[in-house]
Amino acid sequence: MCGIVGIVDSGDVSFPLYYALYALQHRGQESAGIATFDGLTLYKEKSQGLVAEVFNKKILCGLLGGTGLGHVRYPTTGEKIPENIQPFTFTFRGRKVALAHNGNLVNTNNLREEYEGRGQIFCTTSDTEVIGNIIADEYRVSEDVVEAVAMCMRRLQGSYSVVMMLDNEIWAFRDPLGIRPLCIGRTDTGHVVASESVAIDALGGSFIRDVRPGELVCLKGGEVESHQIAEASHHAHCIFEYVYFARPDSVIDGRLVYDVRRRIGHSLFEEAPVEADLVSPVPDSGMAHAAGYAEASGIRYREGLIKNRYMGRTFIMPNQKDREIAVRIKLNPVRGHLKDRSLILIDDSIVRGTTSRRLVNIVRDAGAREVHMRIGSPAIKAPCYLGVDMPTRAELIASDLDNDEVCSSIGATSLHHISISALIRAIGIPKEDLCTGCLTGEYPLAIGEERCCPRNVTCVAKHYQAGLESFSKE
Ligand code: AMP
Repeated sequence: MCGIVGIVDSGDVSFPLYYALYALQHRGQESAGIATFDGLTLYKEKSQGLVAEVFNKKILCGLLGGTGLGHVRYPTTGEKIPENIQPFTFTFRGRKVALAHNGNLVNTNNLREEYEGRGQIFCTTSDTEVIGNIIADEYRVSEDVVEAVAMCMRRLQGSYSVVMMLDNEIWAFRDPLGIRPLCIGRTDTGHVVASESVAIDALGGSFIRDVRPGELVCLKGGEVESHQIAEASHHAHCIFEYVYFARPDSVIDGRLVYDVRRRIGHSLFEEAPVEADLVSPVPDSGMAHAAGYAEASGIRYREGLIKNRYMGRTFIMPNQKDREIAVRIKLNPVRGHLKDRSLILIDDSIVRGTTSRRLVNIVRDAGAREVHMRIGSPAIKAPCYLGVDMPTRAELIASDLDNDEVCSSIGATSLHHISISALIRAIGIPKEDLCTGCLTGEYPLAIGEERCCPRNVTCVAKHYQAGLESFSKE
């Protein structure tokens, strides 16, 4: 759970990078960073906090150059220590390098051990540094970036969308399974790669297309070059990006996320219709799903909970009593809508069950007669190892409770999760091209003792070269 962006422009890139990171803030709130290059010097600024807390005008004016990249972090691997804040920067054979990564490797420990065995030192505990080391090691041999990234891809197992600055070039690549998103856009004065299309929108740019799984693109001097360096028999796009994680106004792998969520709402009604006075979303994560349920059912959409959008992480909560007050400040029930009404309350997911239990209590306290919970993801039964922050199996409420038991645990009148098949239809991508590990416990690549349905990956480095819009075999 991180957001990445890289820009090559005829003007300075620090402000555009800042705007793009602002648009990607939902992907990570722990820390933020930017690195730029002006032809001579690499500039960087990174620290803990939200984008608006890390940067100000003075800092951005000091980040010079027309090439740069940025990162917002939500730590899934690696400790929460300042060393792990991205982008990582280093100099290699006189070239200034910066690296930003979204995803999670599952073979980091083996790779670290191997490279440490050769005397390599690591300054962080993050998997991203391992990627940088492998690329540098391979580049040392071939002096060819395409070859070095292709060799690196052969070693990496897991999810990775990566943006890399090499002097005044931005290189970006996506793992062969396409687990995390990455897309390319054009502005009036340059090119952008970013985790989600909303970052391109924020710059007034136009979306060109997604980076293909296994593809490496290079932005330099107003041109974009593409190399398909690995291919998989099937992809494994993360279903959770569509259900919860991505912004609803993003287009990922050709699908507008809002519309996927609306279709999920339609299916929730078809699978579990119920007579009620109103359909209400859990703000903000259940809004598009609830709009879909209301459309399909004809039941009126009315907000029963209002979220305070100004409550940041800095809210001071010294003790348990204040924590309870904090929940009430964050989400306030609209009593006039809820009193004596039956309610269909829609959220994107139940993970530990704590949020749903609390919300059912709040709306019941406000006078709701019946609370029918409808959930936009199937029951989450297994952890995610590929970049979404999920608790262990023991903490997942649905890992050992069935639907009725979860329903009574959260205190709802009824509960329905969308079925896996309906979710797949709503996304519109074939089942074998999706990762449903958190729902089924079966992952697209080998992870410890977990069950696996592997995709075959072939590395085809340099066999393909393609233009941006077209894609033809050489
Ligand atoms: P829980 O209380 O653990 O059941 O959390 C479920 C709520 O957290 C839902 O309202 C989701 O919108 C949200 N959520 C789902 N997945 C995540 C995640 N990986 N990180 C943070 N919040 C999440």
